[in-house]
Amino acid sequence: MAASLVFRLHDKGPKLVREVLLERGWEEYDEEEREDEDWNLYWRGSAFRNAQYHNLLPWQRLNHHPKTAGITRKDCLARNLRRMRATFGSALYDFSPVAFILPNDYTRFLSEYDKLRPSRGPPAYWICKPVDLSRGRGIFLFEDLKDLVYDCPVIVQRYISDPLLISGYKFDLRIYVCVKSFHPLTVYIHQEGLVRFATEKYDLASLRNFYAHLTNTSINKLGPFYRTEKERVGRGCKWTMSKFRHFLHSQDVNQNLLWQRINNIVTLSLLTIAPSVPSCPNCLELFGFDVLVDVRFKPWLLEVNYSPALTLDCPADVAVKKRLIGDLVDLMNYTLVDGLREKAYQRRGCEKSRFHANLPANSSIPVFPKFKKPKFLKQSSGTQPLQTQALPVLKTNHRFEKRQHKQSSVVAYTQRFLPPVDLNKRQATGDRIIAKNQRDKTLNWILGPHSRTNVTTVNRQACPALAARLTDNRSLLKSEVTNCDDTETEAEADGLSAETDVSSSVLDTPQRGHGLRCPAVPWKLPDIHSGRHEQERIHFEENTTHNRQHVPPLRVGDFIRTFPFNTATLRAAQQELDIKVITRELQKLTGRLAKADKKRRTEKEEEKKDEDEEEDFDSLLWGPKDPPLISQCLKRQ
Ligand code: ADP
Repeated sequence: MAASLVFRLHDKGPKLVREVLLERGWEEYDEEEREDEDWNLYWRGSAFRNAQYHNLLPWQRLNHHPKTAGITRKDCLARNLRRMRATFGSALYDFSPVAFILPNDYTRFLSEYDKLRPSRGPPAYWICKPVDLSRGRGIFLFEDLKDLVYDCPVIVQRYISDPLLISGYKFDLRIYVCVKSFHPLTVYIHQEGLVRFATEKYDLASLRNFYAHLTNTSINKLGPFYRTEKERVGRGCKWTMSKFRHFLHSQDVNQNLLWQRINNIVTLSLLTIAPSVPSCPNCLELFGFDVLVDVRFKPWLLEVNYSPALTLDCPADVAVKKRLIGDLVDLMNYTLVDGLREKAYQRRGCEKSRFHANLPANSSIPVFPKFKKPKFLKQSSGTQPLQTQALPVLKTNHRFEKRQHKQSSVVAYTQRFLPPVDLNKRQATGDRIIAKNQRDKTLNWILGPHSRTNVTTVNRQACPALAARLTDNRSLLKSEVTNCDDTETEAEADGLSAETDVSSSVLDTPQRGHGLRCPAVPWKLPDIHSGRHEQERIHFEENTTHNRQHVPPLRVGDFIRTFPFNTATLRAAQQELDIKVITRELQKLTGRLAKADKKRRTEKEEEKKDEDEEEDFDSLLWGPKDPPLISQCLKRQ
């Protein structure tokens, strides 16, 4: 019998991920039943420890890339965007409200505050947010400096005081972004997202009324008007993005430009950290970008959430999030069964086992120690007993000893020899993998050449502190727990997910079947890195190689590839990330969409030039319903 895919959830959440995966025929990891390594996907709301990245096996994936706090912590985001603004110009990086990190930037804030004093123009408003809190906690607005009181590190940001309103209600957009890989940068944005409303009418005369100024669901669902039928908005405080598209359509705005600008915000924000994120091919990340649109239809980035909430509070949540997670799983590109994990467990019993068929016959891969029989083997009626005579026996009821043994033997015997890297690469480096300082090499494979923490660059004697940090399990945990707005634990404890009776009369997106896909090809090895097989059957795909470069799928479910979006950006992302080329291409595309009604002739000439350059590479424009090809949008001009 073939091995099912196994997921592992930290702290029993999020419920939705469990539900979607179980519907698809996955099994949940049970530590009583399975070995520590016997899983395919580990999902956590908070950050993984460094060691968990070190110890990843080829069939295992994590739902977070390492070191993304550079955009998911409010102060880091502000600092990084300021740096990018200084390097690439404020015309490009003009999408986030001016921000100051206090107390450090207090003097600079004062001078800006003075510049914008009411005597010299219209009043300026500010919003103060604790740097490491989320869900609206600790936030307040002020106009007068005397009202700025804080007792922890905060950012003070220019308050966007002219937001686009719908029937007088403020709203922001929750955009779901999946970074499939940082090296090369590969980004998808989900077509569906959420529009989150304040539940009282916007009024600058009452800065203390959070229900009018903050759009966090966690705040508004406690408000007195949450359940009230509100003009045009309806009940509750959320719409789906589809419903928002209808609204935009009725406003006769240049929608394509708005979507492209949001798309730029996503790409430009990711570029601030992409060069410093270690390469970890077995990781993927779902970010929640919060975007506010002002009256001029200019989008502003408010923050990036590390673990967007996956609770189902209302029909809009159900319509959006279930499908989102389904598409995310598709994007992870699993095969129907995990032959690789299964084979690993079968082969561990062979005295002179080879971990993977690709490894040369003479490579001396160590045997696995005996440990608990994986569930799929237990179920398998025809499975031969494992040959374990020559192996160290691990049989103890003592949990601590068991863990100690596992850590020292399983990890040492398996992971260090099997970094989660491209299979071909592993074969090519087959001889090296048993070298003395294997641990560092493995780490380097995982971290990749882009990493500042590449071990070859860290002299453990000269820089013991940094070297220690590389292996310090706690460092990541502390520094990377950031704008985690996953209310799962709290919401479940509060029973909030039961509030599904609150209808916001949304236009629901059509529900798709999430039934179990039948295991058509058992024993097929998971093609973890190529991004090929599974989507071919369920999505329309572009799986060609362009100038011998791999082109990631155009679309997976409702995830639209937004980066790379043309040949130039594909090339720019492939080796050293060429940010200048990328920003130039983004500006070019945005400029052309902005000029939709003008200079038709000139544009056509340029278009012709670009067509010559780009030949068979095209992308979809994320955002519009039935997203068109970018080339089509430009042709329509
Ligand atoms: P949190 O992580 O606590 O949710 P956010 O930065 O997302 O913090 O802010 C919470 C809410 O406050 C946002 O959803 C938005 O409605 C409002 N908000 C935040 N920053 C601004 C701003 N600069 N201008 C206008 N509204 C803002």
